[in-house]
Amino acid sequence: MTRYGLLLLAALFGGILPLLALTPRSQPISQKAHDLHFRSIVVDTHDDTTQRLLDPKFDLGARHTDGSIDIPRMREGGLDGVFFSIYIPGSVTGPIAVQRALEQIEAVRRQTKLHSKDLALATTAAEIRSAFAAHKIAVLIGVEGGHMINNDLANVDEFASLGVRYMTLTHMVNTDWADSSTDKSAHNGLTDFGKQVVVEMNRVGMVVDVSHIADKTFYDVLATSKAPVIASHSSCRALDDAPRNMTDDMIKALAAKGGVIQINYHVGFLSQEFRDAEKAAPELGKAIEAESKQRCGDQEACQLIEADKILREYVAQGKLPRVAWTKIIDHIDHAVKLVGADHVGLGSDFDGADMPYGMEDATHLPQITNALLEKGYSETDITKILGGNTLRLMQEVEATSKKLGGKP
Ligand SMILES: [Zn+2]
Repeated sequence: MTRYGLLLLAALFGGILPLLALTPRSQPISQKAHDLHFRSIVVDTHDDTTQRLLDPKFDLGARHTDGSIDIPRMREGGLDGVFFSIYIPGSVTGPIAVQRALEQIEAVRRQTKLHSKDLALATTAAEIRSAFAAHKIAVLIGVEGGHMINNDLANVDEFASLGVRYMTLTHMVNTDWADSSTDKSAHNGLTDFGKQVVVEMNRVGMVVDVSHIADKTFYDVLATSKAPVIASHSSCRALDDAPRNMTDDMIKALAAKGGVIQINYHVGFLSQEFRDAEKAAPELGKAIEAESKQRCGDQEACQLIEADKILREYVAQGKLPRVAWTKIIDHIDHAVKLVGADHVGLGSDFDGADMPYGMEDATHLPQITNALLEKGYSETDITKILGGNTLRLMQEVEATSKKLGGKP
């Protein structure tokens, strides 16, 4: 997730510029790919659509021409489980951070109830499977930033009791107990309290998410966690040197512990060319911020949509490079070649980042299945990448929690 106050930071560190788009038609896929895709459980571990849910006028049940996620388009793209991200900027701390997180959790829960014919809240792998069997989309909740616990382990427990199943330890700035990949090191990784947070998350059955955290924090987490961890929305640094992406060594260490890297579709994390262009012209980011604020005032959902339109105009004018969706396949393939198909999944960053051309929304997801089949991947491996690995990891986290006496 990104916010305009962070645009300068984003430009400096290869962060995110919002980009949503009108939906071009999906590319044709084979019947075999279609069948495989729709009989597999497809799970996306990071979507920022929650911000749109805060707008009372936004209807998740209607098909939209902007943004990437709504029920009709999830149905069309065969997206069966989605982690809605609870996000507030890392600069917002204290009790208000907890309060705002609780409000967003409630917004997700309310939407799930409102659309109970299509959606089912899920907190375990078994509940995702049950939702799929009942032809419903599983709704899961992830908290994007440890600042939202306000340095209190009791809030980890409370979030877990409300259905939160992962927490990203930081967003783009450090917390009081963990260093972020896009901030200056303040703690040399994870503090002692940070280690307590990780252990408490293990106990209550919340997946530890290593996206956004500094490399040293990542290794500290791996040494501390008693359960496998995920990178809910990160890509490969060997292909694009954004600090938000994972090095080959990190991906190997994550996999050795049973973890999963969920590939992020953001153009700045997929394409070195885009990242270099973005860094070379930080004035473009500032111009987008100013223009979208002028069009929308303080309305954040509007800013997101307008900024997206402006950025696509810049690409059309040749000011920024055009990134094709097939880069997603390159990152999946790189990670699979490194650690095998058991440790790679999907974490789009839909509705919170700049999607590549051809992956503007969830309707395009079957193209991933088609491309992996064309690359010679087995159906078993593709099913794991689409969601099976996430289910397996959740089961392991649940088992660890039970062992630690944290859950019924
Ligand atoms: Zn993020």
